[in-house]
Amino acid sequence: MKKQTRAIASTLIFAMLLGVTACSKKNSNKSKKKFSVATQAETTEAPSETTESTTESTTETTTETTTEATSNPLGLKIDVPQENCEIQFLPEEERFKYDMVLELNEADHTVGGHVVVNFYNNSSEEWNQLCMRDYSSLFKEAHHDGFQEIEVKEGALTEVTNVMNETTSQALTCNRDADVSVLWIPLDQNLKPGEHMTLSYDFKATIPLVADRYGLSDGVYNVTNFYPILAVYEDGKGFSHEAYYNFGECFYSEISNYHVTLTLPEKMKLLSTGVENTPANADGKNTYTIEAPCVRDFVFCASENFKFFEDDYDGIHIRLVYDEAHPCGDTMDACAEASLQAAKDSFAAFNKAFGKYPYPEVDIVLAPIDAGGMEYPNLIICTVDAMYCLTNSYESFPYEQMAIVVAHELGHQWFMGIVGNNSGMEPWLDESFASYTEFVFYEYLGVEDEMELYSRETFDLTKEPWLTSMQANGILPINRSFYDFEDADSYILAAYSYGKIALYQMEEILGREAFHGILREYVHRNAFTNSTSSRFFGVLLECAGQDNADLNKLIEVLFDI
Ligand SMILES: [Zn+2]
Repeated sequence: MKKQTRAIASTLIFAMLLGVTACSKKNSNKSKKKFSVATQAETTEAPSETTESTTESTTETTTETTTEATSNPLGLKIDVPQENCEIQFLPEEERFKYDMVLELNEADHTVGGHVVVNFYNNSSEEWNQLCMRDYSSLFKEAHHDGFQEIEVKEGALTEVTNVMNETTSQALTCNRDADVSVLWIPLDQNLKPGEHMTLSYDFKATIPLVADRYGLSDGVYNVTNFYPILAVYEDGKGFSHEAYYNFGECFYSEISNYHVTLTLPEKMKLLSTGVENTPANADGKNTYTIEAPCVRDFVFCASENFKFFEDDYDGIHIRLVYDEAHPCGDTMDACAEASLQAAKDSFAAFNKAFGKYPYPEVDIVLAPIDAGGMEYPNLIICTVDAMYCLTNSYESFPYEQMAIVVAHELGHQWFMGIVGNNSGMEPWLDESFASYTEFVFYEYLGVEDEMELYSRETFDLTKEPWLTSMQANGILPINRSFYDFEDADSYILAAYSYGKIALYQMEEILGREAFHGILREYVHRNAFTNSTSSRFFGVLLECAGQDNADLNKLIEVLFDI
């Protein structure tokens, strides 16, 4: 996500209200299916006693089990992976390796340390320079980023020093672009396709004082997209370095193993990408060692006021925190428990539909950020809203308040985390897909009656008046880049609402089981790579065939392929 709550277009509000209505029904006569499925999974899996033991067993299973294709009962042109299939990690030799020794300093709210990156030229072109993205530097001051004013307090440019080519033992220069989030590093020796290189550097980033996905507010540190990270190289285009808009996303990186040593004041509690060990304590500080294999980014959240909740679902350890100093106070307990249940329901639905979440753990941070929520590998941030606290909504119907945002952000674990993409250039590939997972979540809960409003029968996107409306609002094609939208509303309507509905109408045309099968095939083929629209439509048409008139019309009208 990164769906600004203040700017949500009316259609989206309608959609969200619809979600609340749908979830409300969960607690009435249609809740039986949800609880029977969840209970079955829980009773067949022994809950993990420790995080460490979960890590080992799940990682081994992930790397050793193959995705099985079966004879195709779904009416598709090819066999596709079965429900609940395993998703294999990328082979070790194809991952980049980040080794980071970091420390968070409360006094000046900075985070920094030493980074060693081992990577290879994964393109077919020779590189004479590297490009890194330093998003933190964009928060050095208040600014306007295209769609909105960004309020920033006490930010600063990231210091990047001691840049070395460890392979040749040569010091390198690091040149900041006019776009301060872009760093260019000329190489002392060209890197040919397939060649490996080890780069090292020191950095110190200043965490801005702001209640957002990257910032410090009320003692909660959301430390995300904070370190200089290698940009993605695309053949024929070079290193991707599109502008960053705080309103949307432009995150784009390669799958890597992260080995992180992170030192925090001992009073602080930590959640992060990957799995943390028990910290070593010295001099009033805790030092954690964190292993995060096969992820495309590393983030952490820390606060001395985190209250922990934990649960397990089908081998996945779920940790959830909220800030006890939050104005909602202990009314948040109900919210936390409901969010855990929503997470278990989400994994039940998505494991079945898209293939099993291949990591041993996921962390959920309930925090007051200026968006509905935000997704990162193995960690999501979900907004808790002070307004809901004041109206006791979290106490009265916590599941209804939290379920949809938890489901959406966890849906991103498949569509952003496992299958990556350039979220600036093709935002629909992560946002529309994550929004569509909300429907898969409803389907799993058995509360899908209201989805008829989005059906082709009532809302056929290929016909009038929807077609003219979408054209007038600058929504088409849905798979346009973030930078091509004229305003925030058209971006939100396309990436969140109409993209979601388009995927749902593909499901209607092809049948639910067949469409989920196609999505498993798409995930299977593109797991731990960066996908594109053409890859998705390639899989879709290979599976469904090219002779489905309704499907062809939908694609032709809504997308540019
Ligand atoms: Zn999203």
